[in-house]
Amino acid sequence: MLIFVLNAGSSSLKYQLIHAQTAEVKASGLVERIGIDGILKHEIGENKKITFECPIPTHKEAINLILHTLTHAETKVIDSIKEIKAIGHRVAHGGEYFDKSVIVTPSVLRKMEELVPLAPLHNPANILGMQICQNLMPNTPNVAVFDTAFHQTMPEVHFLFPVPHEDYTEHYLRKYGFHGTSHYYVSQQAIKLLGNKRNTKIIVCHLGNGSSICAVKDGKSLNTTMGLTPLGGLMMGTRSGDIDAGVIPYLMDKKGMDTHQIIDYLNKKSGMLGVSGISSDLREIISAASEGDQRAQVTIDMMCNRIRKYLCAYSGLLGGADAICFTAGIGENSNLIREQVCANLEFMGIELDKEKNNLLLPLTREINKKSSKTKIFIIPTNEEFVIAQDTYNLIK
Ligand code: AMP
Repeated sequence: MLIFVLNAGSSSLKYQLIHAQTAEVKASGLVERIGIDGILKHEIGENKKITFECPIPTHKEAINLILHTLTHAETKVIDSIKEIKAIGHRVAHGGEYFDKSVIVTPSVLRKMEELVPLAPLHNPANILGMQICQNLMPNTPNVAVFDTAFHQTMPEVHFLFPVPHEDYTEHYLRKYGFHGTSHYYVSQQAIKLLGNKRNTKIIVCHLGNGSSICAVKDGKSLNTTMGLTPLGGLMMGTRSGDIDAGVIPYLMDKKGMDTHQIIDYLNKKSGMLGVSGISSDLREIISAASEGDQRAQVTIDMMCNRIRKYLCAYSGLLGGADAICFTAGIGENSNLIREQVCANLEFMGIELDKEKNNLLLPLTREINKKSSKTKIFIIPTNEEFVIAQDTYNLIK
C-alpha cells in the first residue's frame, strides 16, 4: 500500500512516497523556501535527482507541486494520486493527549490547536499540512504520528520539572521529549539484534543537527534528554541544550533581548555553531579542528562530554545497558565522535572495537569488542518507515 509521508515545517516540506509493507521508497524530496522564492528537490530511487526552482508562495502550492511531480512527465512514479492510500503526517507535539498515532478527525485537529502554545513553531505547520491534504485529497485518510508519543511512558519522577506542582497541573509544564519515532524504531531494531530477549536496557543516541538520548527499558521510553521543547538536553548544531536558567535573564539584560530574541538566540545561534564560530555542520568543525583550530576542538570536546554525561547517567538509571545505539547524521557517520563518546568507559562494560568503528559502511552493524558486556550498534534511523507503518496499521 502506498503511503505519502509528510513532514511540514514553517517554510519547508519533507516528503516520501513509500510502500508500507516493503519499505520501498518510490520517491522522496524536500520543498524549501516556501513564501520566499521556492525550490523543490525531488529524488526517484537512488540515482535520479531533480531540482526545480519556481515561485512557491504557500504550503498549498508546495503540496500541489509535489503531487504534480509524482504524477507527471519524467518525474512520474504513479499514474494518479488515487494510488496514494493514506497520508502520514509527522507531528512535533502531541502533549499528553496522544500516546500513539491517530487518524486525523476534527477533534484531533482541535486538540492539536490546543497544543500550539507548546510547539508554536512546529504544530501550526503540521496542522496546515493536514488541512491542505484534506482539501486536495478529500477521500484519502490522514494519520498523525507524534514525535512525543513514544515518551509518554516516562514516569512522573523523570518528566516533572522541579518547580511548583501547579505549573504542571495548570500549564502542562513537564518534559515531553522528542525524536520519539526515531528512538522507537532504533530501540526496536536493537531488541531484534539482541535476539528478542526480554527485559532489555537500551540507550539510543540520536545525534544529528538536533540530538537527543533516550533510555529505553523493556521497549519503553524511561527518560530522554529533550524537555518541554526540543531545546533541552544535549548541545546540538545550533541549539544550546541544557543551560543554567540564570543565563537567560543575564543575557537578556546584557544584550537587550526580549523573550523572542533570547529563544531565537539559544535555538539558532548557539550549540556547535555558537561555540565554534564556524558552522553548525560537524564535518566543517572536524575539518577545522584537524587543521589546529582550538575553538573547533573545544566544540567537539564539549559536545562529546555532554553525550557522555547522559550516557553514564542513563546507564546508571537502567542499571547497565545491554546496548548503546548510535543513529542519525553524526551517530551513523562519525567514527571520531563515536570513539570519543565511548572512550574510557570499559569500567562500565563498554568496549568499542576501533577497527569496526572505523569501517565506513552505511549499514546496521555491531562495533563493540567481543569482550564488551554492552553491545554497541550503529542503526540507521528510518522515521518515515515508522510513520508509513503506523498509517497503514490504522487504516488497513
Ligand atoms: P541529521 O540532522 O541527522 O541529518 O545530521 C546532520 C549532522 O550530521 C551534521 O552535523 C553533519 O555534519 C553530520 N554528519 C553527516 N555526515 C557526517 C560525517 N561523515 N562525519 C561527521 N559528521 C557528519
